[in-house]
Amino acid sequence: MLLLIDQVFIQLGIAFVGALLFWRLLLNIYVLLVTQTARQKSFIDKINRCLPQTQCGQCGYEGCRPYAKAIANGDAINRCPPGGNETILKLAQLANEPLARLDPAHGNIAPLLVAVIREDECIGCTKCIVACPVDAIIGGPKLMHTVIESECTGCDLCVDPCPVDCIDMINSTDKSIPTWTLPTTSGALATQLEAGS
Ligand code: SF4
Ligand code: SF4
Ligand code: SF4
Repeated sequence: MLLLIDQVFIQLGIAFVGALLFWRLLLNIYVLLVTQTARQKSFIDKINRCLPQTQCGQCGYEGCRPYAKAIANGDAINRCPPGGNETILKLAQLANEPLARLDPAHGNIAPLLVAVIREDECIGCTKCIVACPVDAIIGGPKLMHTVIESECTGCDLCVDPCPVDCIDMINSTDKSIPTWTLPTTSGALATQLEAGS
């Protein structure tokens, strides 16, 4: 009888140690997966920071972050025309990949452009607002639209949807920003100023 009880305790002990080892293994796998996911996310973040954030989709992905994710998973580093050679160099160093020329299938290196709406021709259809990936256009239904130049990445995605073709892409350095100057004190303003003085 005592022998039987001993055997039961031994079996229970073995089962307990087995269960302990099993849970320990599961915990190790979980920790490994969490660590790998965090490392992968941080790598994607680093790649994404090298990309120009134009969100133009020329790389074949919906935007810069999806392309960063694809690079982290082994996709080519030479698909971003807006980034040009500088971006390829940064990506090659980061991903430890050999340098490669920009893949012409995805476009050519070009100067930075900005969109400009010929406002008097705009019919306020809002199609450009919907197309803009970075919310750089303001306007409303049946109202004139305009581009916030500082927000425009030059992605070109608003041009095709415009039904009246009133959006131009121009070289960002060509844009002449009107300079506001203090008006001469004349007319009604002058009268008000004089009356107040
Ligand atoms: S081509 Fe470059 S800038 Fe355009 S979405 Fe892809 S990574 Fe971003
Ligand atoms: S305004 Fe046009 S060119 Fe500029 S970011 Fe928006 S969609 Fe792209
Ligand atoms: S798509 Fe063209 S017409 Fe329509 S709101 Fe934009 S600029 Fe105006």
